Amino acid sequence: MRLYPLRKGAYTVSSPFGAREGGFHYGLDFAAKDGTPFYACQSGTVQYIGKADGYGEWIVVDSDDSEGGGCVEYGHMWDAFATGLKVGSKVKAGQHIGYVGSNGGSTGPHLHITVWERGYGGKRIDPAGWLRGAGHLGEPEAPTATPSKGTIMAVPNPVTRTQISPNRHSGGRDVDWIVIHTQEGSGTARSITDYLCRPAAQVSYNAVCDDRETVLVVPWDQNPWSAMNANNRGDHILMAGSFASWSRNRWLSPDVSDGKNEDLQLTRTAALVAWRCAVRNIPIRYVGGKGMPKTPGVCGHVDFGQWGGGHTDPGPNFPWDELIRRAISIYNGGKDWLAMATMAEVEALIYKCLKTYVGPIGSDVKDIRQQITGGRDSGQYPGFEQGGSRTLYDLTAAVAEKQGVPNTRDTLEEK
Ligand SMILES: [Zn+2]
Ligand SMILES: [Zn+2]
Repeated sequence: MRLYPLRKGAYTVSSPFGAREGGFHYGLDFAAKDGTPFYACQSGTVQYIGKADGYGEWIVVDSDDSEGGGCVEYGHMWDAFATGLKVGSKVKAGQHIGYVGSNGGSTGPHLHITVWERGYGGKRIDPAGWLRGAGHLGEPEAPTATPSKGTIMAVPNPVTRTQISPNRHSGGRDVDWIVIHTQEGSGTARSITDYLCRPAAQVSYNAVCDDRETVLVVPWDQNPWSAMNANNRGDHILMAGSFASWSRNRWLSPDVSDGKNEDLQLTRTAALVAWRCAVRNIPIRYVGGKGMPKTPGVCGHVDFGQWGGGHTDPGPNFPWDELIRRAISIYNGGKDWLAMATMAEVEALIYKCLKTYVGPIGSDVKDIRQQITGGRDSGQYPGFEQGGSRTLYDLTAAVAEKQGVPNTRDTLEEK
């Protein structure tokens, strides 16, 4: 965990790392009002504190590898001991450790930080790069679920078919990411799998899915040929018949008149993400969009840059928030879907269920009845996973209960 040393809005960056006035500025300056509290960027141990040349006073916090590694100097405060720290004190990321001052070689109140890559006295690196992707104190964290051992059985394996490609190699697998790819073509899971199984194609993914099937193509303990140097660092998932140029609306379109329910494909992909994260003990969180990911999670092919082959899929409009939300929901057995859903989403789901099941075949009518009531005998029909495996009947009652509508379930039963 890494944070900016000041609250959002409390500072402006006044001097970057780099050449400055005939010398070199080995840190990053945050201009802020005199007396503004600042916070530890990373957990660690106070290595030096007190008077220091140029700074007036400083605090140096060293972090071991489990805390993120490296070492951070904080400088220019009037009193480095203001929050009661001393050499050897442990500090947590985000802990208040001092107040901005203008002590020593300073032209106005600011906090200077220097980041040593591997401990004090080694190499100083650009703190802006080191802080890339870091949050600010008090910001809500992005949704995340962290699987722990013993949860694997709770997340079902969503693979529906296996068709192994010869385009794969074994060994050296070190998976930190679940990686999403688009096809850049109009195939189905079935047609693209056939293609990936041709030796001449020279390309493959661990799994491929569309709105109907989830196909295992390269065993999870082997490397697919998806992303150059990132092949062995990820479980690679191809969303069949998709394009990186799609809009958000297209990714979330349940309309099947174009031949596919993209929204359902996203849910199938989320099921795969949830399962792989559970198996591999990888947090279900989006870690892309900020260059090469630094922590395990879910990301796109694009995030590996040239190292991963220089592709840009799954594109700028890919609905990462929805993928993660659904994956977490599935990971939790669908139980928290209600907590997250709006009434409009529930209505949309009900509409979708009905629309999906309306057809000329008589058995579809039976499906509708079963979906609504759970079947002639209670528990016969499991219900939709998006609704926590509730039937529409139970889902509606549960939502109404959540919204504080009294006795809705009873009212429904009378009807
Ligand atoms: Zn500075
Ligand atoms: Zn790709």
